[in-house]
Amino acid sequence: MPNIDLIDSYAEQLTAIRHDLHAHPEIGFEEHRTSGIVADYLQKWGIEVHRGIGGTGVVGVLKGNGSGSRRIGLRADMDALPMEEKTNLGWRSTIPNRFHGCGHDGHTAILLGTARYLAETRNFDGTAVFIFQPAEEGLGGARAMLADKLFERFPCDEIYGLHNAPDLDPNKVAIFAGPGMAGADFFDITITGYGSHGAMPERSRDPVVVAMALGQSLQTIVSRNINPLKSAVLSITQIHAGSAYNVIPNEAKLAGTVRAFSDDVREKVRERMRTIAAGFAAAYQVEIDVNIRDIFSVLINHEAHAAIVTDAARDVVGEGNVLTAVRPKMGSEDFADMLQAVPGAYFWLGHEGSVPVHNPGFILDDGILPVGASIFARIIESRMPATL
Ligand SMILES: [Zn+2]
Ligand SMILES: [Zn+2]
Repeated sequence: MPNIDLIDSYAEQLTAIRHDLHAHPEIGFEEHRTSGIVADYLQKWGIEVHRGIGGTGVVGVLKGNGSGSRRIGLRADMDALPMEEKTNLGWRSTIPNRFHGCGHDGHTAILLGTARYLAETRNFDGTAVFIFQPAEEGLGGARAMLADKLFERFPCDEIYGLHNAPDLDPNKVAIFAGPGMAGADFFDITITGYGSHGAMPERSRDPVVVAMALGQSLQTIVSRNINPLKSAVLSITQIHAGSAYNVIPNEAKLAGTVRAFSDDVREKVRERMRTIAAGFAAAYQVEIDVNIRDIFSVLINHEAHAAIVTDAARDVVGEGNVLTAVRPKMGSEDFADMLQAVPGAYFWLGHEGSVPVHNPGFILDDGILPVGASIFARIIESRMPATL
């Protein structure tokens, strides 16, 4: 079965909305213009609108026909990335160092398409809750909405989210139960030694030498401490120290990220990082401060809800296009935190183009807007069927 006809008829409008958002990207918690546009459309379509949830978040509430009590949340993220766009698109970013390089402009347009369709048809019995989330890109927008009592104020029995996937062929949907995306920590390690002249190292406690050795040792955590049948990544992505050729600095810093699919593994990595750092501090007579921050939870799709997405997606893109035997991704997604509060599932939607998300040349295929909106709408209509 194809897209829902009525949603297909919105394609031009959804594309125009998407291009406008794309040309005016806003990063996490700065989505003032974006959330204003979202709120205006929802209001225009007769949907109850709540703004300022978790900062710049917007929630729309729509009751269907009938008196059904089930409530289902659909979520889209709205934020862009702090990077330059390198495309020649007519709707490319007009703001320096701001780019919708993850396609959240598309996610926002998709959920608007679903909202318009459901508001026009109301062919369901229950309540649809449209959650437009700020700050997905590592700034904790989902947690901000949760802390703002998202699900106490707008209770949901189940929730669904999606992400565009240029690594999947057009019209393919990937969905499966269990861990789908990794939990992530960000860390900063500060080594404080004692500086001296570069020619007189015996007067120093050199933090640079410690940083180099510690960076190597941290790589033994994944290879020597984690069960090889489980997955983890520890990447040191920043090293900062020094300012001159002949000065041993006082301080050196390492920073990076840890990813894993279980909380046990995540805790083990953190514990080993602290233990190894403490050992280095003692051995080299320096101080080492290890700051590890839990940024993303492990995203776990609930089995029953993954099956619901599978059925809805098969309705829209056809059975052969729904991939259920797909490997999890080592990337992270803060919808994971919402899924810890309310059961649900998260799926990927393939599209034209092969440049990965977060690449300056990433291009979202507008063809997915009606597809995503149709799948979301089918979830609502199949889970809360209208009573005749
Ligand atoms: Zn992203
Ligand atoms: Zn994203």
